Amino acid sequence: MPMLLKIAIGFFLGIIFGFIAAPLMPYSTKLTNYVMPFLDMTGKIFLKLLTMLIVPLVFSSLIAGVSSIGDTKALGRIGFKTIALYIITTVIAVLIGFACAYIIKPGRAIDIPPGLHTVTQAPQTFSSMILDIFPDNPVTSMVNANMLQIIIFALFIGAACTIAGEAGKKASNFFGHAAQIMYSVTRIVMEFAPYGVFALIATTSAEFGLAIIAPFAKLIFSIYFGCTIHALIVYSLMIILFCHKSPKWFFKGIREASLTAFVTRSSSVTLPVTIANVRENFGVSESITSFVLPLGATINMDGTALYQVICALFVSQAFNVELSLTAQLTIIFASSLASIGAAGVPGAGLIMLTMVLTSAGLPVEGVGLVAGIDVILSAARTSVNVMGDTAVCVCVASSEGEVLRV
Ligand code: ASP
Repeated sequence: MPMLLKIAIGFFLGIIFGFIAAPLMPYSTKLTNYVMPFLDMTGKIFLKLLTMLIVPLVFSSLIAGVSSIGDTKALGRIGFKTIALYIITTVIAVLIGFACAYIIKPGRAIDIPPGLHTVTQAPQTFSSMILDIFPDNPVTSMVNANMLQIIIFALFIGAACTIAGEAGKKASNFFGHAAQIMYSVTRIVMEFAPYGVFALIATTSAEFGLAIIAPFAKLIFSIYFGCTIHALIVYSLMIILFCHKSPKWFFKGIREASLTAFVTRSSSVTLPVTIANVRENFGVSESITSFVLPLGATINMDGTALYQVICALFVSQAFNVELSLTAQLTIIFASSLASIGAAGVPGAGLIMLTMVLTSAGLPVEGVGLVAGIDVILSAARTSVNVMGDTAVCVCVASSEGEVLRV
């Protein structure tokens, strides 16, 4: 049976299991004391195994990739195209989010629970965000899995390999081999994916009954609808225009990564699977995947941007706050920034929502309103975040003249 089918079966069985288990839990101690904790542990092991791959995989493949490009001009060109596409797709996502929230009006007729208050982590300031890109101690960057710092350090090492003669060649070979090993480790870990996916989705869906979801149905619908429109229209057009391929070819090739992103709710944790999909299914080179995808997992979050706008308008509607034109423009701008600043970890978008609400003069209590169902929203937005990274990666590869695998 193909791995993808096994993962899909794990996913659907997990949902069914979760929904059946939820109402039985108060009556079955076996379920609450043994089965659910066991599933919780299984899901967490899967997450840890994927997380274990991120730093060595990104570090080794990026050095090997950059040193194999060997030309700083080409690197600059790839970097420019990547960042330009990341920004354009983010802005489109924000506008789609705006239109969805404007038309669907998810915040109308919602009951705000009395005494609602929220405890959230303060988001970073702009200058600390910029400072945080630069590593001072690469070992600390790796220990903290700080992706942008690792990328910067690996770019230096990769560029140095190309100018360091024989020593550079040897080092580049070493990292190339290390990256090959990490790709193989990824495949081994993915053997465990069907069970990990089952466990993760079963424990999550057991937590959410209809009573929790119902008041937020319109919000959930707006975000899922917006994400679907963005993915289907924007990415399909990109694939047709840049790669001259069918959208079906694209979406089929990234099914594993999209599903993993949906259940792990983290672009970073999904990164090893994303890299494997783009390399194996589309034949994109290491020099492009190793640069574009880790960068995307950190700064390119179309789903998160779309979510920020919809949530901000949701809060304004729920709290009956009229938004001036300036406030609306602020939401658009702040949402784009928030998506760039959000880390690729579960729930990061929710923390950044504080920044968007504050900058538009909306009550931060809104974060507490959304928090209860954020897991459901986070699954969709992360999946779209990962799709956006892969779409840009494939388009950049095609524009660089790489022949994409059919
Ligand atoms: N979890 C998302 C991601 O990793 C970020 C977010 O919470 O919006 O892509």
